[in-house]
Amino acid sequence: MGDLETIDEIVSLAKRRGFVFPSAEIYGGTGAIWDYGPLGAELKRNIKELWWQRFVRQQPSVVGVETAIITRREVLAASGHEGGFSDPLVECKECHDRFRHDHLMEGKYGNPKQNESGAYICPNCGGVLTEPKQFNLMFKTYMGPTEDSAALAYLRPETAQGIFTSFKLVSETSRLKLPFGIGQIGKAFRNEITPGNFIFRTREFEQCELEWFVAPDNIVGRRSANEPGQERTAHEWYDYWIQQSYQFYLDLGINQDKLRLREHDKDELSHYAKGATDVEYQFPFGWSELMGIAHRGNFDLTQHQEHSGKDLTYFDDLLAERYIPEVVEPSMGVERTLLTILVDAYERVTQKQENGRSVGEVVLHLHPALAPVKVAVLPLANKEGLPEIARQIYAELAAKWNVQYDATGSIGRRYRRQDEIGTPYCITVDFESKDDNAVTVRDRDTLAQERIKIGELTEYIRVKLS
Ligand code: ATP
Repeated sequence: MGDLETIDEIVSLAKRRGFVFPSAEIYGGTGAIWDYGPLGAELKRNIKELWWQRFVRQQPSVVGVETAIITRREVLAASGHEGGFSDPLVECKECHDRFRHDHLMEGKYGNPKQNESGAYICPNCGGVLTEPKQFNLMFKTYMGPTEDSAALAYLRPETAQGIFTSFKLVSETSRLKLPFGIGQIGKAFRNEITPGNFIFRTREFEQCELEWFVAPDNIVGRRSANEPGQERTAHEWYDYWIQQSYQFYLDLGINQDKLRLREHDKDELSHYAKGATDVEYQFPFGWSELMGIAHRGNFDLTQHQEHSGKDLTYFDDLLAERYIPEVVEPSMGVERTLLTILVDAYERVTQKQENGRSVGEVVLHLHPALAPVKVAVLPLANKEGLPEIARQIYAELAAKWNVQYDATGSIGRRYRRQDEIGTPYCITVDFESKDDNAVTVRDRDTLAQERIKIGELTEYIRVKLS
């Protein structure tokens, strides 16, 4: 599906089944901040696990950290966020709606319109818009009992700065040799002017970021003088991480036709960046960024070295000299990835299918590794020893995976409930189970049913899930 209705249906499914809902909903919600219910929390955790596995644990020279959210002002002054992390804001003088000036000019709210005197007008009510003003996106907070400027701090707008400020300690304690990486998963906060599209642009979100430190080109050249081509240049690493990032989404089962790479034009790049490419997905509201891969040069470490007065150089024992490494950064948004996964997996049956599915049924074709519930255990009836067998199966499987036990309603309805949340396998315990010590396993996508011996069930599911 690809229309805007899909998003509405997903928003409603997400709320109805406990994936995602407005934060503090009983008070009317909190602007563009969402809570994740039992299924959403599992799905988010699975995404983060898979990222951590791929970008941290499986990489021979990447370590992971968890740095603080509350960030002292000096850090974000050095990184350029305090002075420059802003979007141009215009406000309607009539209805006081606010818009990002650049989005307005790009036509995100329809063709930008002007009045007779040339002033741009509000896409909602036609009122005159103010001149654009820079609006800093960081959330401020105060540490300590007084709200004076000495105690000003920010909620971090990205996780990366914690990696740069701890670079020295982490690289030395882990005895890392270039090229190496430091990864982090954590919350970030941006007071977005125009949040929206459900969880696509929110004010509180999670990022998975890897800072991959490499030797500058002139050093690579000298280091590989004896064995040319042995070491990748920063630009080659940039290409490498673009491919890794794209492949990550393919491996999550995302439809390749809806994924693309978009390289930023020169005028989109920050002044220090040497390249930036986004992985984009074709959402019902258009192609949009899921992940950004940036070649940041040595900007961040140089800035922190200058502002902190601490030596942040790396000692290259091959050349016996010190220098500041360059960095390539793949940065992924967890919620955007989650939205992509839901949109991509969502199917509402529109005509009766050969496999027996009827119109209106909803199936989430989630990759098993992502599915919040891996298996559902369903006793056909609540009598004649069936619940006892089902409970035992449940206990065995629940020791390994997130498993649901559901004994209420007709079996058809129970299957539909599981299809709707993307459970890959349903196990039905029926009246024959007592005699043949076997159960029926139903596959969500093919609807094929297989009879499996209870003693072989865990291994059967393990193989299926992997
Ligand atoms: P955009 O242009 O959409 O505002 P960005 O280029 O500012 O995004 P980055 O700073 O590169 O984003 O952040 C890296 C990743 O963090 C993005 O690819 C996205 O997945 C995620 N992200 C950034 N801002 C938000 C947000 N407000 N809500 C949810 N995810 C976000």
